[in-house]
Amino acid sequence: MRVRMLGTGSSDGWPNPWCGCASCAWARSAGVLRRQTSALVDGRVLLELGHDGVRAAVDLTRVEAVLVTHAHADHHALPAWMWRGWARGTRPLTLVGPPAVVAAARAELDPTVTTLEVRAGDRVEVAGYDVRVVPATHAEADVGPAVLYDLTGPDGARLLWATDTGVLGEQALSLVEGRAYDAVLLDLTSAHQPVHHDLDTWPRQVEVLRAVGAVVAATAVHAIHLGHDNPPDIDDLLDGWGASAPRDGDVLEVGR
Ligand SMILES: [Zn+2]
Ligand SMILES: [Zn+2]
Ligand SMILES: [Zn+2]
Repeated sequence: MRVRMLGTGSSDGWPNPWCGCASCAWARSAGVLRRQTSALVDGRVLLELGHDGVRAAVDLTRVEAVLVTHAHADHHALPAWMWRGWARGTRPLTLVGPPAVVAAARAELDPTVTTLEVRAGDRVEVAGYDVRVVPATHAEADVGPAVLYDLTGPDGARLLWATDTGVLGEQALSLVEGRAYDAVLLDLTSAHQPVHHDLDTWPRQVEVLRAVGAVVAATAVHAIHLGHDNPPDIDDLLDGWGASAPRDGDVLEVGR
């Protein structure tokens, strides 16, 4: 499974373009620009439909499924559907998302798009991928209920896409128990507690995931959805926890 990170930042991005804080100043001077978090899996499955992801100059013409976790604008930018409607030769595509996402999209979709409404605990197959739906600790029915995705590819590689979320609840942990992911990508916004992770909860969450067998020795653990409340030395901190933060444009080879 090949995961291209179209963005790795929080909704405002890191640096936040309006912000003069030291963290944003560092990001600008270092040229580490993180746009809204989204990823393209094997060129076929798009995780999140934010403005930035569809503007990342990546070819989306082969995308067969779009998986959206919730209806916040950095994850579900409605104009993206309109732009798709202006494209020529679009192929059939399935939008997977919780009820609020499907409801918001409905008026914007052209006939090539099929919708698949999901809730925590569901398991669906889409574009040859086995998708299990895990509840997020993030937002209620008005934008979701927000979910996370456990995705197994046709090659057997398995990843957990876990943004946006705070500390996982009992149901989420029971669903990820024993899954021994090849990769876990976990929210590290470092703001807006308790519906995102910060530098206190993130390493503890990884340990909990390890304790239930979701993270094992071979699991690559990554931080995503990073915002400017993280410090410039975030790479060193993550390194100390055996993890890393991929940057925009990075390609992760998952399961090799
Ligand atoms: Zn977000
Ligand atoms: Zn800032
Ligand atoms: Zn959100």
